Amino acid sequence: MTKRVVLIGHPVAHSLSGAMQQAAFDSAGIDAKYELWDRSPMALADAIAELRGDDFLGANITIPHKERVVPMVDRLTDDAHITGAVNTLTREGKRLIGHNTDVPGFKVALDKLVGKQEMPRHAVVLGAGGGARAVVYGLITEGFQRIIVFNRHLHRAEGLVNHFGRSAAHMELRAMPWHDSIIESELARTKLLVNATSIGLTTDESPVPAEALHGDLLVLDLIYAKTKLLREAAAAGATIADGELMLLYQGAAAFALWTGQAAPLELMQQQLAEARAGGLRSAEGEPTGVAADTDEAGGGETEASGDEPDASVDSAVAAASAE
Ligand code: NDP
Repeated sequence: MTKRVVLIGHPVAHSLSGAMQQAAFDSAGIDAKYELWDRSPMALADAIAELRGDDFLGANITIPHKERVVPMVDRLTDDAHITGAVNTLTREGKRLIGHNTDVPGFKVALDKLVGKQEMPRHAVVLGAGGGARAVVYGLITEGFQRIIVFNRHLHRAEGLVNHFGRSAAHMELRAMPWHDSIIESELARTKLLVNATSIGLTTDESPVPAEALHGDLLVLDLIYAKTKLLREAAAAGATIADGELMLLYQGAAAFALWTGQAAPLELMQQQLAEARAGGLRSAEGEPTGVAADTDEAGGGETEASGDEPDASVDSAVAAASAE
């Protein structure tokens, strides 16, 4: 029987996970099909219930459901419990296990972005959804001492800060209201900026004014496209990376969880690159941002995105897979 793995989100049409995971199943000789399920929040509980059937290996959960799915599963692994967000499901009989492979995926992307520089201690995080929770937890465990979270709806950022109260007791984790002037003054004293909002996913908009960006910044956009934020940051002389490496490594960890086999990283990265070169399409069918291989960001840009899968970071993925 062909096994099924599904990506549940709303929208899911922008996702490149399908190309990456299907190629990985095929190359490993695993008879499985990766399906995209666009499900509204109202339809989520029924979709999750369906996954308990014998034909399912598991699922990925994406925007906007990562937090909502938490009470719908039978057990959470440590990363999923601590973040309060789930991006991967596995099945044990009729029981569903919630994992969070965004955490190790984010850490790989962060390490690559920072490169040989000293790991910064201050960060600004834009967004307070499921992705932001993995980012904030990753930063706390990396030893960051000050993390400021901006979100359109302040109460959600405050909820995130409260959620991490105990893990962040030794450092400063604060929610701040989304005002350009406050973001600009925080960025002036910050080395790392992470965009974990979906601004830029389906429209060519940036979450921050270009004037707020400066050359000392390391900027990571979780969106896997050369967004307006990344183009403007590069033009300001900042070091930039998009969400491709995080996507690759969270996907590799999920593959290992579903199959019990190490993920074919090089093949998965190649598939992502090919899918991007073929033209990333948003849910609305419009191109999102600028394709990765164009050079509209200007000649002075420093890009930290991974060139090749890095053996030194496989341990992060292995740790997630072993949960
Ligand atoms: P959620 O739906 O959980 O959160 C969305 C976030 O974006 C919230 O903070 C929301 O703010 C904010 N937002 C959405 N629209 C707007 C807007 N118009 N103006 C201001 N803020 C807005 O999604 P996720 O956290 O799961 O995903 C967020 C982004 O990160 C997505 O683009 C996703 O593709 C990307 N991502 C990439 C990963 C990767 O592997 N590369 C992994 C995880 C996420 P509010 O709360 O106020 O609505």
